[in-house]
Amino acid sequence: MNLYELNKLAIEFRSDIGLNQESPLDFFPVITNKLKNLTIVFLEMDEKISGACFKVDSQQIMFINSKHPKGRQVFTAAHELYHLFYEDAVFTICNLNSNDEIEKNANQFASFLLMPINALYSYKKENNIEKWNLNSIIDCEQYFQISHEALLYRLKNSSDITFEEFNKFKPNIKNNAQYCGYDSSLYEPYIDKNYTIGNYVRLVEEVYRKDLISNGKREEYLIQSYLSDLVYNLEDL
Ligand SMILES: [Zn+2]
Repeated sequence: MNLYELNKLAIEFRSDIGLNQESPLDFFPVITNKLKNLTIVFLEMDEKISGACFKVDSQQIMFINSKHPKGRQVFTAAHELYHLFYEDAVFTICNLNSNDEIEKNANQFASFLLMPINALYSYKKENNIEKWNLNSIIDCEQYFQISHEALLYRLKNSSDITFEEFNKFKPNIKNNAQYCGYDSSLYEPYIDKNYTIGNYVRLVEEVYRKDLISNGKREEYLIQSYLSDLVYNLEDL
Protein backbone atom coordinates (compact mmCIF):
# COMPACT_ATOMS: atom_id res chain seq x y z
CA MET A 1 0.00 0.00 0.00
CA ASN A 2 1.31 3.49 -0.76
CA LEU A 3 1.27 6.48 1.60
CA TYR A 4 -1.85 7.96 0.05
CA GLU A 5 -3.77 4.70 0.55
CA LEU A 6 -2.56 4.33 4.15
CA ASN A 7 -3.58 7.89 4.99
CA LYS A 8 -6.98 7.23 3.39
CA LEU A 9 -7.34 4.09 5.51
CA ALA A 10 -6.50 6.05 8.67
CA ILE A 11 -9.05 8.73 7.75
CA GLU A 12 -11.71 6.08 7.15
CA PHE A 13 -10.85 4.42 10.44
CA ARG A 14 -11.32 7.70 12.31
CA SER A 15 -14.56 8.33 10.51
CA ASP A 16 -15.89 4.77 11.10
CA ILE A 17 -15.49 5.12 14.84
CA GLY A 18 -16.95 8.64 14.90
CA LEU A 19 -13.83 10.75 15.34
CA ASN A 20 -13.16 13.95 13.45
CA GLN A 21 -10.12 14.19 11.22
CA GLU A 22 -8.02 16.82 12.92
CA SER A 23 -8.28 16.49 16.69
CA PRO A 24 -5.52 14.96 18.75
CA LEU A 25 -6.59 11.77 20.51
CA ASP A 26 -6.39 10.88 24.18
CA PHE A 27 -5.60 7.53 22.69
CA PHE A 28 -6.12 4.77 25.26
CA PRO A 29 -9.38 6.08 26.77
CA VAL A 30 -10.72 6.91 23.31
CA ILE A 31 -10.07 3.51 21.72
CA THR A 32 -11.23 1.72 24.86
CA ASN A 33 -14.47 3.69 24.56
CA LYS A 34 -14.91 3.36 20.79
CA LEU A 35 -13.74 -0.20 20.09
CA LYS A 36 -16.13 -2.32 22.08
CA ASN A 37 -14.42 -5.66 21.41
CA LEU A 38 -10.89 -4.54 22.16
CA THR A 39 -8.84 -5.56 25.18
CA ILE A 40 -5.43 -4.01 25.85
CA VAL A 41 -2.94 -5.83 28.05
CA PHE A 42 0.11 -3.92 29.24
CA LEU A 43 2.84 -6.47 29.78
CA GLU A 44 6.49 -6.45 30.71
CA MET A 45 8.23 -7.72 27.57
CA ASP A 46 11.67 -7.84 26.08
CA GLU A 47 12.79 -4.30 25.19
CA LYS A 48 12.92 -5.17 21.48
CA ILE A 49 9.25 -6.19 21.35
CA SER A 50 6.84 -3.27 21.03
CA GLY A 51 3.64 -5.23 21.16
CA ALA A 52 1.58 -8.10 19.82
CA CYS A 53 -2.00 -8.78 18.94
CA PHE A 54 -4.41 -11.59 18.28
CA LYS A 55 -8.00 -12.16 17.34
CA VAL A 56 -10.33 -14.75 18.77
CA ASP A 57 -13.88 -14.87 17.42
CA SER A 58 -15.05 -11.26 17.46
CA GLN A 59 -12.62 -10.25 20.19
CA GLN A 60 -9.44 -8.28 19.55
CA ILE A 61 -6.59 -8.34 22.02
CA MET A 62 -3.40 -6.32 21.94
CA PHE A 63 -0.35 -6.49 24.17
CA ILE A 64 1.73 -3.37 24.77
CA ASN A 65 5.23 -3.32 26.27
CA SER A 66 4.73 -1.79 29.72
CA LYS A 67 8.32 -0.55 29.87
CA HIS A 68 8.08 1.74 26.85
CA PRO A 69 7.26 5.45 27.10
CA LYS A 70 3.67 6.57 26.55
CA GLY A 71 4.38 8.03 23.11
CA ARG A 72 5.69 4.68 21.95
CA GLN A 73 2.92 2.72 23.70
CA VAL A 74 0.33 4.84 21.90
CA PHE A 75 2.13 4.40 18.59
CA THR A 76 2.36 0.63 19.12
CA ALA A 77 -1.35 0.44 19.92
CA ALA A 78 -2.21 2.39 16.75
CA HIS A 79 0.13 0.05 14.83
CA GLU A 80 -1.60 -3.04 16.30
CA LEU A 81 -4.96 -1.67 15.11
CA TYR A 82 -3.67 -2.02 11.56
CA HIS A 83 -2.99 -5.74 12.11
CA LEU A 84 -6.30 -6.28 13.87
CA PHE A 85 -8.44 -4.51 11.27
CA TYR A 86 -6.61 -4.93 7.98
CA GLU A 87 -4.51 -8.10 8.22
CA ASP A 88 -5.64 -11.72 8.18
CA ALA A 89 -2.99 -13.05 10.59
CA VAL A 90 -4.50 -14.30 13.83
CA PHE A 91 -1.41 -13.65 15.93
CA THR A 92 1.33 -11.07 15.30
CA ILE A 93 4.37 -10.04 17.36
CA CYS A 94 5.80 -6.64 16.50
CA ASN A 95 9.13 -4.97 16.54
CA LEU A 96 8.45 -1.48 15.25
CA ASN A 97 11.97 -1.16 13.84
CA SER A 98 11.47 -4.13 11.53
CA ASN A 99 11.88 -3.63 7.81
CA ASP A 100 9.13 -6.06 6.95
CA GLU A 101 6.66 -4.51 4.49
CA ILE A 102 3.60 -5.19 6.65
CA GLU A 103 5.32 -3.71 9.70
CA LYS A 104 6.22 -0.60 7.72
CA ASN A 105 2.61 -0.24 6.53
CA ALA A 106 1.37 -0.65 10.11
CA ASN A 107 3.79 2.07 11.27
CA GLN A 108 2.67 4.44 8.55
CA PHE A 109 -0.99 3.76 9.32
CA ALA A 110 -0.30 4.47 13.01
CA SER A 111 1.39 7.76 12.18
CA PHE A 112 -1.53 8.85 9.97
CA LEU A 113 -4.12 7.70 12.51
CA LEU A 114 -2.55 9.77 15.28
CA MET A 115 -1.84 12.70 12.99
CA PRO A 116 -3.64 12.66 9.61
CA ILE A 117 -1.85 14.51 6.79
CA ASN A 118 -4.43 17.31 6.81
CA ALA A 119 -4.28 17.65 10.58
CA LEU A 120 -0.52 18.18 10.43
CA TYR A 121 -0.96 20.60 7.53
CA SER A 122 -3.53 22.66 9.48
CA TYR A 123 -1.35 22.58 12.58
CA LYS A 124 1.60 23.93 10.59
CA LYS A 125 -0.52 26.67 9.10
CA GLU A 126 -2.17 27.72 12.36
CA ASN A 127 1.17 27.88 14.11
CA ASN A 128 2.95 29.66 11.24
CA ILE A 129 5.61 26.98 10.99
CA GLU A 130 7.76 27.42 7.92
CA LYS A 131 10.88 25.70 9.14
CA TRP A 132 10.72 23.13 11.93
CA ASN A 133 13.01 23.53 14.93
CA LEU A 134 13.25 21.55 18.15
CA ASN A 135 10.76 23.76 19.98
CA SER A 136 8.10 23.60 17.28
CA ILE A 137 8.61 19.81 17.04
CA ILE A 138 8.11 19.39 20.79
CA ASP A 139 5.00 21.62 20.70
CA CYS A 140 3.61 19.51 17.87
CA GLU A 141 4.29 16.10 19.46
CA GLN A 142 2.75 17.32 22.71
CA TYR A 143 -0.33 18.57 20.88
CA PHE A 144 -0.86 15.30 19.01
CA GLN A 145 0.55 13.15 21.84
CA ILE A 146 2.67 11.32 19.31
CA SER A 147 6.14 9.99 20.13
CA HIS A 148 9.13 12.23 19.43
CA GLU A 149 10.67 9.59 17.19
CA ALA A 150 7.45 9.03 15.24
CA LEU A 151 7.11 12.76 14.55
CA LEU A 152 10.78 13.02 13.52
CA TYR A 153 10.36 10.10 11.09
CA ARG A 154 7.23 11.68 9.68
CA LEU A 155 8.96 15.03 9.11
CA LYS A 156 12.04 13.37 7.65
CA ASN A 157 9.99 11.22 5.29
CA SER A 158 8.14 14.28 4.02
CA SER A 159 11.47 16.15 3.64
CA ASP A 160 10.40 18.76 6.20
CA ILE A 161 13.62 18.07 8.09
CA THR A 162 16.93 16.67 6.90
CA PHE A 163 18.62 13.50 8.09
CA GLU A 164 21.14 15.68 9.97
CA GLU A 165 18.32 17.55 11.72
CA PHE A 166 16.65 14.24 12.55
CA ASN A 167 19.83 13.17 14.37
CA LYS A 168 20.30 16.56 15.99
CA PHE A 169 16.72 16.77 17.34
CA LYS A 170 16.53 13.18 18.57
CA PRO A 171 18.40 13.01 21.94
CA ASN A 172 17.47 14.21 25.46
CA ILE A 173 13.85 14.69 24.57
CA LYS A 174 12.49 14.37 28.10
CA ASN A 175 14.64 17.25 29.40
CA ASN A 176 14.12 19.31 26.28
CA ALA A 177 10.32 18.98 26.58
CA GLN A 178 10.51 20.07 30.21
CA TYR A 179 12.52 23.14 29.16
CA CYS A 180 9.63 23.92 26.79
CA GLY A 181 7.25 23.87 29.76
CA TYR A 182 5.70 20.41 29.32
CA ASP A 183 5.49 17.59 31.83
CA SER A 184 7.37 14.41 31.01
CA SER A 185 4.37 12.05 30.85
CA LEU A 186 4.65 11.48 27.08
CA TYR A 187 8.17 10.13 27.62
CA GLU A 188 7.30 7.79 30.51
CA PRO A 189 5.06 4.69 30.41
CA TYR A 190 1.31 5.34 30.36
CA ILE A 191 0.94 2.15 32.42
CA ASP A 192 4.20 0.71 33.70
CA LYS A 193 3.04 -2.63 35.10
CA ASN A 194 1.17 -5.72 33.97
CA TYR A 195 -2.40 -4.47 33.65
CA THR A 196 -5.54 -4.93 31.54
CA ILE A 197 -8.04 -2.40 30.20
CA GLY A 198 -10.94 -2.81 27.81
CA ASN A 199 -13.50 -5.41 27.00
CA TYR A 200 -12.12 -8.42 28.89
CA VAL A 201 -12.86 -6.67 32.18
CA ARG A 202 -16.34 -5.66 30.99
CA LEU A 203 -17.06 -9.25 29.94
CA VAL A 204 -15.98 -10.68 33.29
CA GLU A 205 -18.26 -8.24 35.09
CA GLU A 206 -21.14 -8.98 32.73
CA VAL A 207 -21.03 -12.77 33.16
CA TYR A 208 -20.69 -12.31 36.91
CA ARG A 209 -23.71 -9.98 37.04
CA LYS A 210 -25.72 -12.52 35.04
CA ASP A 211 -24.80 -15.19 37.60
CA LEU A 212 -22.95 -17.21 34.98
CA ILE A 213 -19.80 -17.35 37.12
CA SER A 214 -19.21 -17.33 40.87
CA ASN A 215 -17.47 -14.49 42.66
CA GLY A 216 -14.48 -16.80 43.17
CA LYS A 217 -14.22 -17.35 39.42
CA ARG A 218 -14.64 -13.62 38.77
CA GLU A 219 -11.78 -12.86 41.15
CA GLU A 220 -9.66 -15.55 39.53
CA TYR A 221 -10.22 -14.00 36.07
CA LEU A 222 -9.43 -10.51 37.36
CA ILE A 223 -6.24 -11.70 39.08
CA GLN A 224 -5.20 -13.56 35.90
CA SER A 225 -5.58 -10.32 33.97
CA TYR A 226 -3.40 -8.41 36.47
CA LEU A 227 -6.31 -6.68 38.18
CA SER A 228 -5.73 -8.00 41.68
CA ASP A 229 -6.04 -4.44 43.00
CA LEU A 230 -9.74 -4.63 42.11
CA VAL A 231 -10.13 -7.95 43.94
CA TYR A 232 -8.32 -6.75 47.07
CA ASN A 233 -9.77 -3.23 46.94
CA LEU A 234 -6.32 -1.72 47.21
CA GLU A 235 -7.71 1.71 46.43
CA ASP A 236 -9.39 1.79 49.84
CA LEU A 237 -6.26 0.95 51.81
ZN1 LIG B 1 3.30 -5.12 13.68
